[in-house]
Amino acid sequence: WPGHHKKHLTYEELQTILLDTPSPAKAAEWQQYYTAGPHLAGQNLSQAEWTRDRWEEWGIKSDVVAYETYINYPVDHRLALLEKSKSQSTDEEVWKVSFEATLKEDVLDEDPTTQLDDSIPTFHGYSASGNVTGSFVYVNYGTYADYEDLLKANISLEGKIAVARYGGIFRGLKVKRAQDLGMIGCVIFTDPGDDGELTEANGYDTYPNGPARNPSSVQRGSVQFLSVAPGDPTTPGYPSKPGVPRAPVDGAIPSIPSLPISFVEALPILKALNGLGPKAKDFGEYWTRNTGLGYKGVKYNIGPSPENVVLNLINEQNYTITPQWDVIGIINGTIPDEVIVVGNHRDAWIAGGAGDPNSGSAVLNEVIRSFGQALEKGWKPLRTIVFASWDGEEYGLVGSTEWVEEYLPWLSVANVAYLNVDVGVRSPVFEASAAPLLHKLIYDVTALVQSPNQTVKGQTVRDVWDGYISTMGSGSDFTAFQDYAGIPSLSFGFGGEAEDSPIYHYHSNYDSYHWMAEFGDPGFIYHKTMAQILGLSIAKLTESPLIALNATDYADGLKGYIKKVEAKLASTHPELSTEDDIFEFRARAVGTEVKGDPDIFGDSLARLYQSVGELQSAAIKLDAKAEKLSEKANEHIPWWKWISKLKLLHEIRFTNTKYKKIERAFLYEPGLDSRPWFKHVVFAPGLWTGYAGAVFPGLVESIDNKDFEKALEWVDIIDNCIKTATKTIE
Ligand code: GLU
Ligand code: CA
Ligand code: ZN
Ligand code: ZN
Repeated sequence: WPGHHKKHLTYEELQTILLDTPSPAKAAEWQQYYTAGPHLAGQNLSQAEWTRDRWEEWGIKSDVVAYETYINYPVDHRLALLEKSKSQSTDEEVWKVSFEATLKEDVLDEDPTTQLDDSIPTFHGYSASGNVTGSFVYVNYGTYADYEDLLKANISLEGKIAVARYGGIFRGLKVKRAQDLGMIGCVIFTDPGDDGELTEANGYDTYPNGPARNPSSVQRGSVQFLSVAPGDPTTPGYPSKPGVPRAPVDGAIPSIPSLPISFVEALPILKALNGLGPKAKDFGEYWTRNTGLGYKGVKYNIGPSPENVVLNLINEQNYTITPQWDVIGIINGTIPDEVIVVGNHRDAWIAGGAGDPNSGSAVLNEVIRSFGQALEKGWKPLRTIVFASWDGEEYGLVGSTEWVEEYLPWLSVANVAYLNVDVGVRSPVFEASAAPLLHKLIYDVTALVQSPNQTVKGQTVRDVWDGYISTMGSGSDFTAFQDYAGIPSLSFGFGGEAEDSPIYHYHSNYDSYHWMAEFGDPGFIYHKTMAQILGLSIAKLTESPLIALNATDYADGLKGYIKKVEAKLASTHPELSTEDDIFEFRARAVGTEVKGDPDIFGDSLARLYQSVGELQSAAIKLDAKAEKLSEKANEHIPWWKWISKLKLLHEIRFTNTKYKKIERAFLYEPGLDSRPWFKHVVFAPGLWTGYAGAVFPGLVESIDNKDFEKALEWVDIIDNCIKTATKTIE
C-alpha cells in the first residue's frame, strides 16, 4: 500500500533529507579520493572495493561484480615527422627526423596530478597496434562528408595517414572511415579553434594560469566503432562471464593504428602541409569553421605531403582478457518488480578525471549517503533502487553493457527507468538528454532545486536552464538500457557549454582535482546541486504511487520525429541551425542508387501520423487516469473501507504496468539493418555520428541510402511498434 510507510517518513520528509544532506565538503572529499591516482578500466579494484565499503557504511547492501573482458593497455608509441634529403657529405638521400612528438602532456607545478610517476600515456582505447610510415592528409573532422569531399577532389587517400581534428562526431568513426578508405593510420589532434572564445589566440592565459586550453593537453579516448555495438567487442549480446565463447573482433574495433595528440604537437605536422594541395577553405565553410591555429602559422592545406615528407606512427598495445568491476548497491522496495537503476562510471582515462567521471561519482556517493540517512530514519522505498558504479565506460560502455546483457530477463520485466550521471559537473550550465517519457520528471525536479547562480533570488535550476532536452544518442552508460533493453533513460549534469566557462580538458591530465577546485566548480557547490537533482529524481520515481512517466510526451515526441523525416525527404539541405544538425548532416553516408519509389514511401508517412494520433489519444487518457489515481492515492481512506482501498491499489498497479511497458513496445528484435545489437526503432546513436542521436534510425538510414523499398519496410516496423504501444496502454 502506497501510504503505509508514511508513519515512518513522509515523502516531504524524504525530500528534505535529499535536499539537506549533500554537502560540498563531502563531494570534495570523494573527488579527492577518486582523482588521487590512475583508475583505468580493469585496473581499479581498490576503488571498486572502497566504493562498495562506503555504500555499505551508509546502509546500502552492495557487491562488486566482475566481468572478464577483452581490453588493451598501452605499451609504446611514437609519432615522428621524417624528411628525406641529400646528405651533404655523401650526396646520398637520407631520412632525417624533423620532429619527434613527445606524446606527453606538460607537468605543472600547480597541479599535483600531472606530477604522478605512473600517469597514463596518451593513447586510444581499442586502437590497433601497428608501425606505419606514409605521407599524410588533413581530413578536417573526419566526418563521412569530409572524406567524401576529399575523394571528389581526387585527393588520394589510400596508403596515407589521416590527420583529423577532434570534434563533431565520435572519434572511433573518424578512424573507421579512414580504414574503410584504405588509409593506414590516423592521428587526431585538438584544435583550440573548437574551444570558442576563451583561447590563447584571443589573449587568454592557458591552464593553470588562466581559463584557456593548455597547449599540451591531449584527448585520450576509445576508438571502438561505437555505433556498431558497445560493450566487450568479443561478446556482443551476451555477458563476458569466465569461459564464454568469444566472437572475432574484426569490424568492431579498428585494424589501423591511431594516436591522439595535442595542438602544440600537431603544429609541425600541419605546417608541413602549408602550400601543399588545396586549402581547407576551397572545400567550403565546414572546413574552415573553428580552425584556430592560424596564429601559429598553420595554413590548413590538405596535402598530401610529398613522398619525402612522411609520418612514422607507432602504436603498440597489449591486448588481454582481464576483469572489470561494477559496484552494485540495492535498496529493496516493497514492490519487487518496479526497479529504478541509477548509474555512473568510475573508470577514467587519466589519474584525475575530476569532471569525467568522478564529479558524477562524488554526486552519486552524496545521493547514496543521503538515502542512507533516510533509511536510518525508518524510510523504506516503494520501489527498489539499484545503484551502479560502472567500470570500463571509457573503452566502450563495457561495465554497463555487460551487466545489462546479463540481467536482461529481469530488467525487461522490472526496470522502470535508468538514470545516468557521467560528467556530473564541469560548468555552470545544466544539460540533459532523455527519453520523452522522462521529460516531465526533469522539468518537475529541476524546479525544486535552487540554482547556485541566480540573477534573481530564489531562482531554481529550471529557471536558469533553457529547458532543451536532447534525444538519447550514445557515448555513455545509458546506451544498453535505452537502445538494447528498451528502458526509458536519462543522462544529465552540469556539462553544458557556456561562453565564459573555463575550457574543459576532456580526457586530459588537466581534468584534475586542481582544475575542478580552481576553475570547474570552486567550492563544489554545483556538485551539491547535482546531488540534490539526482536524489529528488530518484525519489520521485520510487515514491510517486503512479510511476512518474508521461505518455503524452512520448506521443508528441514521435510526431515531431515523423515531421523530421518528412523535412528530410523534402530537402537535401536540412535546416542546419544547431551544431548537432551540422554534424548529423556532415556525418551521413549518402547512397547513389535509388531503389523503390520515394513518392510511395512519402505517402506512407500518413500511416505513421495516423498511428501516432491513436497513440496520442490513448496516452492523453492514460496520463489523465494516472493523475486521478494519484489524487485518490493521496486521499485518506479509513481502514474500514479496505475493499475500495484494495481496488485502488489494483488499479494503480495495473496502470503502472502499462507505463512500464511503453518503451519496450519500440524494441524490434532483429535490430537495425547494419547493427542488429541496436533494437530500438526510435533511438540509436547516429551511424556516422556516434554521439548525436538518430531518430527512427532504420528509416532515416534507408532514406540516406536512397533505398525507399527498405524505408517502406521500416514504416511497417515502426507502425507495428506504435500500434503495440497503443494496445499496451489502452
Ligand atoms: N564516453 C566515452 C567517450 O566518449 C564512451 C566511449 C564509447 O562509447 O565507446 O569516449
Ligand atoms: Ca557482451
Ligand atoms: Zn564519462
Ligand atoms: Zn570519458
